[in-house]
Amino acid sequence: MRILIVEDETKLATALKQGLTTKGYAVDTLGDGKKALTRILIHSKDYDIIILDLMLPSIDGLSVCKEVRAHNIVTPILVLTARTETESKVDLLLAGADDYVVKPFSFDELVARIHALLRRPVSTLPATLRAGTIELNTTEHTVTCEGKPVMLTLKEFGLLEHLLRHPNEVVNREDLLAHLWDFNYESFSNVIDVHVKNLRQKLARADIPDAIETVRGIGYRLRT
Ligand code: CA
Repeated sequence: MRILIVEDETKLATALKQGLTTKGYAVDTLGDGKKALTRILIHSKDYDIIILDLMLPSIDGLSVCKEVRAHNIVTPILVLTARTETESKVDLLLAGADDYVVKPFSFDELVARIHALLRRPVSTLPATLRAGTIELNTTEHTVTCEGKPVMLTLKEFGLLEHLLRHPNEVVNREDLLAHLWDFNYESFSNVIDVHVKNLRQKLARADIPDAIETVRGIGYRLRT
């Protein structure tokens, strides 16, 4: 899961990035409305959620939000708003925001809102993802094979989650990189292959040796 944080308070942006990274998200931060809009219009498909501050240099958050929706981009947007800002929840929702949190907010509250937004729509994003005997719980961050726990690193977990969301489909390496690593990552590195190899070994130890198939030259497929 990859998140774009648009927030010009560097301290807050850095703290959020750190916190969300330890939760296993890939996080990019931008501190300017215009830059954020450009990034979103070009790379919207790479982001699973956008966290958007309202008071921003160059273009304010509400205008960014409206513009993004005007381009038919449906990525969930969670707005950060200060108590003193006059926009009502109705204005935010009319502008296309999915939810908002009022500053100062607790990190746990933000994470809860992110989880809630990523679960929408419930029918397509269940908390528990299954393939064969593999079960992955996105809220408890646990994986079991045949009921036995499998310990995965954050990146392995993210990889497996992405594959489970696209069962029996070929997921290309660029897609995996886009959703699991942040913008600064070297996209030609073999980082994906290394993590897939480790994930495969762990699944093999849980008696599921060939769940992840390599599709040569393209990417990977999770067999169910
Ligand atoms: Ca601000």
